[in-house]
Amino acid sequence: MEQFELGVHPHRRFNPLSQEWVLVSPHRAQRPWQGQVEPTLSEGSLPFDPNCYLCPGNTRAGGAKNPEYKSTFVFDNDFAALRPDTPAGELQETELLLARSEAGQCRVVCFSPRHDLTLARMSVKEIRSVVDTWCEEFSKLAGQANVRSVQIFENRGAMMGCSNPHPHGQIWANESVPDELTREIAAQKIYLQRNNSGLLEDYLHLELEKKERLVCANDGFAVVVPFWAVWPYETLLISRRRIACLPELRDAEREGLAGILRQITIRYDNLFKTSFPYTMGFHQRPTDDASHPEFHLHAHFFPPLLRSATIKKFMVGYEMLAMPQRDISPESAAEQLRQLPDIHYLDA
Ligand SMILES: [Zn+2]
Ligand SMILES: [Zn+2]
Repeated sequence: MEQFELGVHPHRRFNPLSQEWVLVSPHRAQRPWQGQVEPTLSEGSLPFDPNCYLCPGNTRAGGAKNPEYKSTFVFDNDFAALRPDTPAGELQETELLLARSEAGQCRVVCFSPRHDLTLARMSVKEIRSVVDTWCEEFSKLAGQANVRSVQIFENRGAMMGCSNPHPHGQIWANESVPDELTREIAAQKIYLQRNNSGLLEDYLHLELEKKERLVCANDGFAVVVPFWAVWPYETLLISRRRIACLPELRDAEREGLAGILRQITIRYDNLFKTSFPYTMGFHQRPTDDASHPEFHLHAHFFPPLLRSATIKKFMVGYEMLAMPQRDISPESAAEQLRQLPDIHYLDA
């Protein structure tokens, strides 16, 4: 097969982590487009909101009162999707009707007492407290019977369905290992057996050498727009060392993670001069009893914005029925993010 120019011709790219394909149509990037205009996001503008259920000292819907916390604050979600006291059970009438009980926990992590901040507007020191909290929570949940995976994530912005601008994330701990993680574990296992090196370890080396999809990096981490990115400005944050979970980070690496999270979220805000919406989350080893030498700690950022603060990408039609598709190439998205200033536009 002949080599062709990725930036010109339609093609599909393979995601070795999820083992899925994405269709790339770079020739369509210039087509006229009347995109959806979203209402302006109403972000928190005051440091304290008396009506916010996450602000210090306020009462939550369930009746509990938040402490006057000064750094991070973690509590069990009052409307949790998973509950630890779920009785074990199974339903299997035929092979077509299968259901299993799912026990678990849903935690909420307030990143800061300040209602008006986001990761992009917090200092490295403040984000470091968030990193330490994530490490503690992962270890605590991992140590519990019946917890086989811990999903740490953040939904940012009304466009992503986040109902409260107060900087916060969530942690869901499951009795089972979810499908997305299961696929990534399998792919990394096979790759390690075949190559005697880690999938993301090798991928990171390759991207650090080529640099065309690199957004930013420090001693502990690098951020790239992955070769197989689906969302226009999707990025992958990879630890330089092949470690399997956050608690394995050394002190300097925790500092590095705080720094790189600040870096990427500032660049996102600067792209369209808006508080950039996204879903982000860490993928870590499952918390079963097996050792996971194959697993390489990373985080995915999935932002919905396409070409301005108000125009978002839709996953509809062909993408719901066949496979995801993108217009601007991952290389040009990376170049845009890379060339942005690393000082927040509100401070510039
Ligand atoms: Zn608040
Ligand atoms: Zn992943």
